[in-house]
This record gives sequence, structure tokens and C-alpha cells, in this order.
Amino acid sequence: MALCTFVPLLVSVPVTIVFQRERVRSEVALANLELAHAELALFARTDTLTGLTNRDAFLKELTSLNSQRVSGSMLMIDVDHFKSINDSYGHHAGDEALRLIADAIRRSVRDNDLVGRLGGEEFGVFVADESPALGLAVAERIRDNISRIDFAPAQGRPRKLTASVGMAFACHTMDVSAMLKQADRSMYEAKHSGRNRVIVHEAA
Ligand code: GH3
Ligand code: MG
Ligand code: MG
Repeated sequence: MALCTFVPLLVSVPVTIVFQRERVRSEVALANLELAHAELALFARTDTLTGLTNRDAFLKELTSLNSQRVSGSMLMIDVDHFKSINDSYGHHAGDEALRLIADAIRRSVRDNDLVGRLGGEEFGVFVADESPALGLAVAERIRDNISRIDFAPAQGRPRKLTASVGMAFACHTMDVSAMLKQADRSMYEAKHSGRNRVIVHEAA
């Protein structure tokens, strides 16, 4: 009788402990896997030099906002005469300038605005707001903050950094590629009219 009672008990207690331990172990492994997956996903949409959203992820998020019919201002920002910064100070200093510019852009926008590095020395911002006046204010703030960057590379004299900004306001009916084209055209207009300025695309 005693054997019938105690033997199953003696067996079941360690078995339960082993099962519990294995369950905790697999839960920890699953949590680690989920964390690694999230880190990988973040890495895939981040520009490694500046920490900003990369081009693909920026365009994806922009398309998603567009499909939700969100209005806003698209800003295309291109650093002025950047090639000569590399030529004068070297590629490393050029990279540092790009990081400082990315920080200046980040500081100039609200948390919910979309900011990305679209290519070499080109950045994009989407100010999700019904008011083009707010978009223009953000564009001017970005231009101004970039021009105030203290860029003093170890080798060479301090050098002023500037950028040209093109802006296109998109109401909820406009498609992404038309908006990007307009902002791009305005950015080139800003280049041709002297750089270090903001040009807003005028609706036809
Ligand atoms: P503009 O005012 O007309 O825009 O002239 P720009 O010199 O800025 O334009 P251009 O397109 O002639 O040169 C862009 C330069 O940006 C050339 C390229 O070597 C440099 N560049 C692109 N990506 C990087 C990068 O990741 N790091 C560094 N250091 N330089 C880069
Ligand atoms: Mg460029
Ligand atoms: Mg440039």
C-alpha cells in the first residue's frame, strides 16, 4: 500500500521539476529568438552610418502613410558641394559631416515625422501635417540648423556646411512618386538659384 502511494509520488515530483525547467528554458529561448528577430528587422531598415531610416524603409513607410491618405510636406535635402568636403578633408571627415547633418535634421523635426537617408549626401523628411506652412517652417529650421553645425575636422580649417532643400506639399490624393519628383525638382531649383535655401514646389 505504502509502495503504491509513495513510488508514483517519488517519480512524479522530479519529472514535474524537469518539465518545469524545460518549459522555462524554451520560453527564454523563444524570447531571445524574438529579440534577435526584432534587432535584425531594425538593422535591416537602419542606415548604419547615420542611424536614420534607410532609403527602402523610408519609401515603404511613405507609401504606407500615403495609402492611409495622410497629407504632408515632403522635403528633399541635399548637402551642398559635399564632394569638395571629401576632397579637402578626406572620406572619414566626410562621414563625420554626414553624421552631424543627420543629427541636425533629427533635432529639427518632431518625433512622428519621417526622416531617412535616401542616398550618399541626400536626406528625406516627410512632415505629416495638413499645413504646408508647418512643412516650410521645418524645412527652414533644417536648413538653418545644418548651416550652424560646428564642423571642425582635425586636419584643416573649420568649414561651413550647407544644404539645399526642395519641398512639395502632398494632399491625400497625390501619389508618392509624383510627390518625390516635385520635391526633387524643387531641390535642384534651390541648387541652381544659389544653394543653402528652401524652394517650395508651386502647384500648377
Ligand atoms: P551639389 O552641391 O551640386 O550637390 O554638389 P555635391 O558635391 O554635393 O554633389 P556630387 O553629387 O557631385 O557629390 C556627392 C558626393 O558625396 C560624392 C560622393 O563621394 C559623396 N558621398 C556619397 N556618399 C558618401 C558617404 O557615405 N560618405 C562620404 N564621406 N561621402 C559620400
Ligand atoms: Mg546629391
Ligand atoms: Mg550634394
